[in-house]
Amino acid sequence: MIVDLAERASPELPEYDVCIVGTGPAGATLARELAGGPFRVCVLESGRRLPTPQGDALRATESTGIHVKDWSRERVLGGASTTWAGLSSPLDPIDMAPRPWIGSEGWPIARDEMLALYDEGARRYRFPAAPSFGASGFGSLRARGDVQPVWKQLEEKVFLACAEPQDFGAESQAAWSASNVDLLLDATVVRIETDAAIGIAHARGVRVRTSAGLELEVRARAFVLATGGIENARLLLVSRDACPTGLGNEHAQVGHGFMNHPKNYFGILHLARPIESLPYFFGALNQGFAGYAGLRLTEERQRELGILNSYARFEPLFPWSDDDGVESLVTLVKRSKGLYTRWKSGRKDEVVELRDWSETGDDSERQNARHGVFGAVPLVGNVVLHAPSVAQYAWFRLGRRKPKVRRVRLRHFLEMQPSSANRVELSRALDANGVPIPHVTHACNELDRRSLVELWKTLRLELAANGLGELEGDLAHADPWPIDQDASHHMGATRMGIDARSSVVDAHLRLHGARNVWIAGASVFPTSGCANPTMTIVALSIRLARRLQVELSAARVRA
Ligand SMILES: Cc1cc2nc3c(=O)[nH]c(=O)nc-3n(C[C@H](O)[C@H](O)[C@H](O)COP(=O)(O)OP(=O)(O)OC[C@H]3O[C@@H](n4cnc5c(N)ncnc54)[C@H](O)[C@@H]3O)c2cc1C
Repeated sequence: MIVDLAERASPELPEYDVCIVGTGPAGATLARELAGGPFRVCVLESGRRLPTPQGDALRATESTGIHVKDWSRERVLGGASTTWAGLSSPLDPIDMAPRPWIGSEGWPIARDEMLALYDEGARRYRFPAAPSFGASGFGSLRARGDVQPVWKQLEEKVFLACAEPQDFGAESQAAWSASNVDLLLDATVVRIETDAAIGIAHARGVRVRTSAGLELEVRARAFVLATGGIENARLLLVSRDACPTGLGNEHAQVGHGFMNHPKNYFGILHLARPIESLPYFFGALNQGFAGYAGLRLTEERQRELGILNSYARFEPLFPWSDDDGVESLVTLVKRSKGLYTRWKSGRKDEVVELRDWSETGDDSERQNARHGVFGAVPLVGNVVLHAPSVAQYAWFRLGRRKPKVRRVRLRHFLEMQPSSANRVELSRALDANGVPIPHVTHACNELDRRSLVELWKTLRLELAANGLGELEGDLAHADPWPIDQDASHHMGATRMGIDARSSVVDAHLRLHGARNVWIAGASVFPTSGCANPTMTIVALSIRLARRLQVELSAARVRA
């Protein structure tokens, strides 16, 4: 049953076995794993099928340090997967291992188990399978480039996105209409209600508000918060029946250890000789995936230096790079889905090299902006205004000739140290439901910065040693620190761990402080590595669904 509470009143609801809050990749995966099974599942989604002004207003966040973009969070069926770029990569071995130099005991999950879960994610959720990242997959493009650099202390890391990135709301229709699943839209959870028990808390229900201001309670035996990297912490902090500072917050850990992958450009590589083709590093569409290889320091070198796992990627500069007209054209083509899909499927068996970074959709304010009925008009206007650059771009995009690249800019993505200085708290300001909005404080610390400066130094040396050219820029003395953009990867604010005094959820993602509340999403990551988080979110949700089935079956036997 799918009920949009903006359109009709809530029907009489039973007591559910599981209530999942949120329909982004975390919540949708859980729902898909439980659909068709023996348990009665309720899924509560604050948004509706399409974005609404009310849903957009609920994204409001206050920031200190790195600014959290509104469009990094979506209140709509499918969550941020409705706008994401789809880039995926597995966590690296070092990410999950203990790293005393960053204050991490590692993940309480074996990496082999995670690799098996990635494999399931690839088979059931359209993520790239392990071979796609390797020599038989995207790695095969390495040999096709004009140059094949040899690295000493650098390692390549491949990132891949489905040619049509997954939209978890739209692609989970079968789950939403499964006979054991009820999906309620326009159902914003404003707090979790717990029994005033002695000892560990027990959640009885969640209080839900609709955009019309109606309230209802949804009761279940188990609750999973899958509301995104910031909202998961916020919902715990505002739910104060059991603990005066928030559910599961007995040891003041909720919200602490928030992480992002701060990103930005810095530095230009002046190529010693022009390059026409370098699809592996410059980005290409091949075998159904768009991807590129970034560069990070080897794990051995990271250990020696006591630093984090950050990476940099190359972006070729074309005469039309950063041209608003070109970006508008790309946005128009992407919005006319049929045209875009036809263009891509016509080139299924080719290696389509990237001709402008906006083709990836990563970090595009324009592509993420809301557009109404007349939304195409300013885009068309931009295309006309910038006709010469657009024509040049289109010529190289559609034709067989390859532009010569003489300069390449570097784009950096940082791993942040999990630190209590970076956190999600509650603001004094309230949203339309009277709930405090989140206040997010995060910034790069000395170790974060040093980690990238070390990578930069090695890059400069090895690019020169390979005869590729000279890297211009002085990152070590850059002031203010330039790598300061929100990557929309919100992680770590309810981290998992063995010890309740230093983590919020256990290895099975259950709140240390509650008997029947679990957390799904990147907020449970104890560390983040530099991989985009969603493939790991989905892997963890598959694992959590399995755990819930065990717990609920055991509870049935006991009852
Ligand atoms: C522009 C952009 C590009 C991105 N690119 C990439 C990428 O290339 N690769 C990658 O791995 N990741 C990328 N991400 C991040 C990725 O989208 C997130 O990691 C992922 O969506 C998180 O999944 P989630 O289910 O945990 O949370 P979300 O997707 O945020 O979903 C949370 C859901 O919970 C709902 N919700 C929130 N609060 C409540 C409430 N109180 N009551 C009821 N429902 C609620 C929301 O409406 C939403 O549907 C990108 C994000 C953006 C914005």
